[in-house]
Amino acid sequence: MKKLIIAIDGPSGAGKSTAGKALANNLGYLYIDTGAMYRAAALAVLGKEILLTEEAKITELVKQSDIFLQGGPYQLHVFLNGQEVTEQIRTPEVSQAASIISAIGGVRQALVERQREMGKQGGVVLDGRDIGTHVFPNADLKFFLVADVYERARRRNLEEINRGEALTLEQTLKEIEERDQRDSHRAYAPLRPAVDSIKLDTSKLSPTGVIEKMVEHIEGKLNLVANSLGRI
Ligand code: C5P
Repeated sequence: MKKLIIAIDGPSGAGKSTAGKALANNLGYLYIDTGAMYRAAALAVLGKEILLTEEAKITELVKQSDIFLQGGPYQLHVFLNGQEVTEQIRTPEVSQAASIISAIGGVRQALVERQREMGKQGGVVLDGRDIGTHVFPNADLKFFLVADVYERARRRNLEEINRGEALTLEQTLKEIEERDQRDSHRAYAPLRPAVDSIKLDTSKLSPTGVIEKMVEHIEGKLNLVANSLGRI
């Protein structure tokens, strides 16, 4: 059976990772959390005496950093220069820094190259901001998930509380709005839906509801592929 490249883009808290992990798990595909790669790059920068405005130094550092993801969708481990950073990359400080450095063209080029290398064989679900528009413009299926910003903040805040961070809902909302603004307005590969993406508003859907809708599209695509192969 053909192994698809599935792109899932959208803003923070829209449900990309919950859906992406479940789909990858069910299909036996690789799950690539591209946000985790930008986060690991940001952690590398925060560990050095480099200002977030020093673009050339940041690009150089990211190019030299060994960032890799290991494990299945539900046991994804993130490594930076051989050290596991899976937990460390989830702090609000790293979220903001990731959003700032991901606007630098050189940083994106370095990470996009690695993402293309990991995904080119197919059998992958990639979760990000620019997968359908830039990393894999020829992906077999492109989803663009959105949700009301208050609902996204509520979901993210719940995750933060579960991790033991004492952020208020207002702080999480502000953090998400800042990142939305930056991610959507950067010059290079901004967050926007690919013209051929399937748009899903997840505000009022349960995670299962979102996954069911996505599965319908995936099954449709796989049937199309099987039928066209049958005609050859
Ligand atoms: O998805 P996540 O919230 O972990 O991503 C962290 C940040 O990394 C995002 O706010 C965004 O700025 C950046 N990012 C990106 N392109 C991607 C994935 C993430 O610019 N493909």
